[in-house]
Amino acid sequence: MSNPVIVAIDGPSGTGKSSTSKAVAARLGLSYLDTGAQYRAMTWWMLSNGVDVGDSAAVATAAEKPVIISGTDPSGPTITVDGADASGPIRTQEVTGAVSAVSAVPEVRTRLVELQRSAASGAAAGIVVEGRDIGTTVLPDATLKVFLTASPEARAARRGGELTAAGNGAVDLAATQAALVRRDAADSGRKTSPLAKAEDAVEVDTSDLTLDQVIDRIVALIGEKRDAS
Ligand code: C5P
Repeated sequence: MSNPVIVAIDGPSGTGKSSTSKAVAARLGLSYLDTGAQYRAMTWWMLSNGVDVGDSAAVATAAEKPVIISGTDPSGPTITVDGADASGPIRTQEVTGAVSAVSAVPEVRTRLVELQRSAASGAAAGIVVEGRDIGTTVLPDATLKVFLTASPEARAARRGGELTAAGNGAVDLAATQAALVRRDAADSGRKTSPLAKAEDAVEVDTSDLTLDQVIDRIVALIGEKRDAS
């Protein structure tokens, strides 16, 4: 039996991380973990339980309370909080607007990183884990680390397309781009494990690539790493 394959995919929002990570995992028969969904789930719980997300001490104290469970099948990933399906509520604008403040709290990160490492060590064939600090902090010994980037325009266009597809009507692309840039600045500027490219990560600029091209590139990179090991 070959060793489990651990793939870390990091990068800012709107670079195609989720679609790419899910498809790579499905193609190679690996598990899939969306760590952004876990930070969103934690944020949704705080908002639903009256915790002031601007009060980092209050968020730190509450961080141990929610029970967050991620299902790691790439063809149907799930997330529950205290047993309730959270997949819809974690995608609201309210959660998106509050998640960077919650994810900057060290106690939140400690708790979720523990869940992420245990998902990775429990995945028999291996796992694709997507996030912001997977290659730098969560899984520094990953088989392959990828850092996805794209121009702000390409990222806003993608995110706008997703919002429209989700039934949000006409989307203001300039406002979408400004919100993405703001969230990335907050995620890159925080003290505890900020969004960053690991030294040994392969950077892939997805601005002018189709989803299939990005998937093929990453599957090829995994093949090279496997052959070399
Ligand atoms: O990937 P997604 O946009 O759903 O992530 C939501 C938020 O979760 C990010 O803006 C960031 O604040 C946080 N996050 C993080 N570390 C990760 C994944 C996500 O801080 N590994």
